[in-house]
Amino acid sequence: MKILLIICIILVSANIYLIFDNSAQRSRSVALEQENQALTVYIESLQDKIQQLEVSGESSIDISKDQKIRDLLDSYLQNRSQHQVGLEASITTEELRVDLEDYQQQQRFIPDIRPIVGEFAVSQKFSERHKGVDLASPLGTEVVATAAGVVKSAYEDRYFGNVIIIDHLNHYMTFYAHLAKFFHQEGFFVEKGQTIGLVGSSGFSQSPHLHYEIIHRGENIDPETATSY
Ligand SMILES: [Zn+2]
Repeated sequence: MKILLIICIILVSANIYLIFDNSAQRSRSVALEQENQALTVYIESLQDKIQQLEVSGESSIDISKDQKIRDLLDSYLQNRSQHQVGLEASITTEELRVDLEDYQQQQRFIPDIRPIVGEFAVSQKFSERHKGVDLASPLGTEVVATAAGVVKSAYEDRYFGNVIIIDHLNHYMTFYAHLAKFFHQEGFFVEKGQTIGLVGSSGFSQSPHLHYEIIHRGENIDPETATSY
């Protein structure tokens, strides 16, 4: 009798284990399916980019680069005129060049650009309870580093799904969650604007979106005020 009871318990617990194991496998395959879809979208977008480059030649890249430098120079000069207290009238070109280079270096590590390439909509704003912004965007849309820095960690979280955290080495950190895929591991150096992953719906998420946080000196700040959306 006792033996029968023990056998029953073993059978029941084996069944429970199998049920759990099955559901874990199912959610794993759902995640893989999503990752595949995201990668397909990404590859298609890369093909589009290559085609555009082939059509327009290399000149378009130079123009955008040139525009970037001009924008940087503009914002530098604006900043400079705002802080002009006690500034000597005669400033040499060499001094200006060194200043500009310093400024460019600083800007490079400040997270002030959009983390998503292409279309998105703010689906949840920053608040006391929600320490970042949710940006709804199609599955597989590119997620970029909003400033240069080192990947502090890249991992899978039950709630946040696939997460990547970047340390910008200047008291700024950025956090990207629910990714379909991340492309870099801990210790990897990324440039501002470099693709680090793809928008997904991993972890606790209803539909594809990026949960994005900016942390400055240990405090979360509103990404919408730090970036001009
Ligand atoms: Zn969120």
